[in-house]
Amino acid sequence: MKNPELGIIRAALPDDEILTKCIHCGMCLATCPTYDLTKLERSSPRGRIQLIKAVADGRLEITPTFIEEMSFCLDCQACETACPAGVKYGRMVESSRVLIEDTKENYAIPDIVKKIGLNYILTNNLALRTVAFLMLLIQRSGLQFLMMKSGFLKIFNKNFNEYLKLLPKMKFKTTRGLLKGVSLKPERSRYKAAFLSGCIMDVAFSDVNLDTIQFLLKNDCEVFIPEKQVCCGSLHAHNGEMKTAFALMKKNLDAFLAEDYDYLVSNSAGCGAFMKEYGHLLSDDPVYSIAAGKFSEKVKDFSEFVHLTDFQTKLRPPDETVTYHDACHLVHSQKVSQEPRQMLAKIPGIMMENLNESTWCCGSAGIYNVTRYEDSMHFLDKKMQNLKNTKADVVLTANPGCMLQIEYGIKKYGLKMRIEHPATFLNRLIKE
Ligand code: SF4
Ligand code: SF4
Repeated sequence: MKNPELGIIRAALPDDEILTKCIHCGMCLATCPTYDLTKLERSSPRGRIQLIKAVADGRLEITPTFIEEMSFCLDCQACETACPAGVKYGRMVESSRVLIEDTKENYAIPDIVKKIGLNYILTNNLALRTVAFLMLLIQRSGLQFLMMKSGFLKIFNKNFNEYLKLLPKMKFKTTRGLLKGVSLKPERSRYKAAFLSGCIMDVAFSDVNLDTIQFLLKNDCEVFIPEKQVCCGSLHAHNGEMKTAFALMKKNLDAFLAEDYDYLVSNSAGCGAFMKEYGHLLSDDPVYSIAAGKFSEKVKDFSEFVHLTDFQTKLRPPDETVTYHDACHLVHSQKVSQEPRQMLAKIPGIMMENLNESTWCCGSAGIYNVTRYEDSMHFLDKKMQNLKNTKADVVLTANPGCMLQIEYGIKKYGLKMRIEHPATFLNRLIKE
């Protein structure tokens, strides 16, 4: 092994062939948003694979260009969908980010903030809820408005006001708070569905969680929400914090496997994609490998699961026209593309508008829209132009990051549409 750090890359890449699978055909180039923007080979999937392989072979140091390209990549995995050779690009770029984090010697302030957020706040439910409550106070008291109006935050970063606009609106109640008094066992039960409340979903999208759970209950599903569950670890894995991701994965396995259930129903594309990877990532773990494999097999996106029920018989026709944006972690990571469309097509009287380039990343990409705001806005521009052309009333998408990014885009471009999660949309249509 020419480069001892290859071990770190390969530690997360158990398939040794992964770095040599690319046949340089270029089929992925047209699907890559960063290549589309720069037209530089090094910003393409094929170019990045060459960079990663060069580092792995010891032919290239971890240079600023290498770090820049790994950070510029959205990890949207559109290239994986296009690739005829089955290159697992997402695993490669995520591993290279682990390598970058592990070999970093100096941290700038944004790096430190990111590390604290990922390793000390998202990992601890109490810390997360405390920070969320403080944010709620700042948002609801008008302090955030005053901070933005005064412009003083721009001293720290010229885009600070935009970051505040991109932040989710914190909710007064977490998922459990909203569920007080709700029985999770319906009279008739056909399936038992486990449910991940999530981290950001729990404090900022607890209403979407409630809609998902209510929809499951109304469709004869018992819902199991383990008390000791934690964040799924996807944001950590995508940002090079793999050790923390592994610790979270194991905590979740302990929490979820305490009871038997039929499926784990996910309403967040990023969380669902990562939970489907637990089995692969822990395949060498002497304690958790079998449990992780079983756990991943039971994970289903909301749009996959609902087809097991006869939900459509309970719905009234919607009044609004609807369009659908594919979240990258649903369409590219999970390859779930037809199920959401078939789910929507089952709604009686639905008026659907086709969204051109619906699988093109909106630029949210986890925390990319904060870490690389300007680049992210290029990708959002294209998405908003396509959304504008649909003239739909409602945009449906199943990922919290996409919801925040598109909501920001709707305000920025002054469009008359709103964003909604498919579970909220469906739950709203149930005839009482
Ligand atoms: S993950 Fe997305 S941005 Fe990154 S190389 Fe693939 S297509 Fe391009
Ligand atoms: S499509 Fe796949 S095999 Fe072809 S260049 Fe891109 S990554 Fe390589």
